[in-house]
This record gives sequence, C-alpha cells and structure tokens, in this order.
Amino acid sequence: MFDALQRIIFCITDKCDLRCKYCLNEKSNRTISFNSAKQMIDVLMKSKKRIVEVNFSGGEPLMGHRIIKKIIEYANREAFKKKKIIKYLIISNGTILNEEIISMIKKNNIDFIISVDGSKESHDKNRIFRNGRGSYDLIKKNIEKMQDKGIKASISFVFNYNNDITRDLDALLTLRPKNAYINLEIHSKHDSCEKKAYGRSKRDDISRKIARWYVNFFEKNQELPPIPVLNHKWLKAQYDYEKYGISTKKKFVYPAQEDLFAWMRSHEFIPALCTRPEMNY
Ligand code: SF4
Repeated sequence: MFDALQRIIFCITDKCDLRCKYCLNEKSNRTISFNSAKQMIDVLMKSKKRIVEVNFSGGEPLMGHRIIKKIIEYANREAFKKKKIIKYLIISNGTILNEEIISMIKKNNIDFIISVDGSKESHDKNRIFRNGRGSYDLIKKNIEKMQDKGIKASISFVFNYNNDITRDLDALLTLRPKNAYINLEIHSKHDSCEKKAYGRSKRDDISRKIARWYVNFFEKNQELPPIPVLNHKWLKAQYDYEKYGISTKKKFVYPAQEDLFAWMRSHEFIPALCTRPEMNY
C-alpha cells in the first residue's frame, strides 16, 4: 500500500508568531506528538523508494524545533537501517533562528524555504506580528545570519496585486536566495473581492511586467534569475510570446520556441501523506 510513498508533510504546529493578513491557517496551540510523528516515519520507511522526503510546515514549524530535531534523529536512525536517503525541507516564516536550529539545518542538510513578500514595503503590509509591526527587518537579518553560516535559503513570495512587482522582484534578489517561488494565485484564488477589483486587464498587465522583468534580467546577465514562476501556464496564457519566450531549459529564446514560459523546479505531484497536529496534549 505504501510502496510508492515518497513524501511526508508534517504540519508540526498550528502556533505562529505572525499574524499575516492573508493567512488561512487556524491558530491554536496544537502541536504534533512525537508518537504520531514516529508512526508516520514508520509508514514512510515501508515505501519502496530509496530516496524519500520529509517536509515540515505549520503554523510556524520552528516554534516546534525541538520536536523537529527529535523526528529527524528518529528518521535518520530508521533510514540508516533501511538504507534510505531522506531529504528534509522546512517551510518557515523566517522569524525564529538560533544556534540550535542552524546546527540542525547544517547537520542534516535541510532545504529551507522562507516566506518573503518582495520589498520591505510590500512585505510589511501583510506579514506582521501580533502588535502590527512588520517582520521584514528580522527576517532579512536571519537570512543574512544563515548565509554567514553557509546556509542558503530559498524564498516563497506571495505577490499582492497592489504592489510594484518589479520593485518586489528586484528586492527579492538582494536577499541572494538559492531559489525563489512566486505565488501569483493566492489573492485571486482566495479573495474573490480582489479578483473582481482587479480583473483580467490588471492581471495581464502584471504578467507582462513579470515577463519584461525576466527579459531585462536575462539581457543584462545572460542567465535567468533564480525565480521560476509557480503558475507558469497562467502566466504563459497572458504573455505575448510572439515577441519573447523563456525556455524550460534555463536558456532564453527569441521568439518563443518552447511551450512553457518558465521552468519549474519541483512542483510535480508525487504520492505524499500529510499530517495535522492533534488536539492539545
Ligand atoms: S507565517 Fe504562515 S501561518 Fe503564520 S500567520 Fe503568516 S501565513 Fe499564517
């Protein structure tokens, strides 16, 4: 039954220190128990895949970094017995970082994705603490601290249609991300008012600006920026690729000779299991 299982996604906790305005997560003190995590790892070990993945998200998963550490230690022991390789990923808001976390990331070669919404101005509009203060400065400091320790985080960027996309993309690059993912969907998918307010022409305009930004970056640097477009089909549909196109193979072509507008890194669908934290315990 679990032969093809490749990934476990642990929602470690519902707790979060931020109060992002667009957050859809229910806040509570629920945190996963080590026993249920162990059971999930045991299930993953039944997979026939040699390379498997364990993802940690939340809420803010690093509010439960001690339990993450315990899960990893257990998973590593089990993987060693079964001769498996585990790739770890933490998806974090980037506000919590200490020496213990840095050493866990380095020791286990954990991929790390931090949510940053472009420039400080755009980010601090939505990604705020309980007291309303923006989180950008702290997150930037933590990204730099990680880089000093040899860890390069990727960035997940939620684009807001009210903001200046070119400024946001430029700002993302100043953080020197390993990779960055644009999430263009969140405001159109989950906020019907916003969708109505901006309509198709506004979205077309944004798409062209993104496309133009890619083109300018490529012309200047002769390579593509580390920012694949998450919803590439939607973007392609909006974009006039008679004039320009970006290939799926990290090279640029005039006019478009390939089907896809931008390449994607790993948004494929794979067999995966997802947990939720239990009730308070
Ligand atoms: S960091 Fe994530 S879970 Fe926390 S408030 Fe923001 S969107 Fe919600």
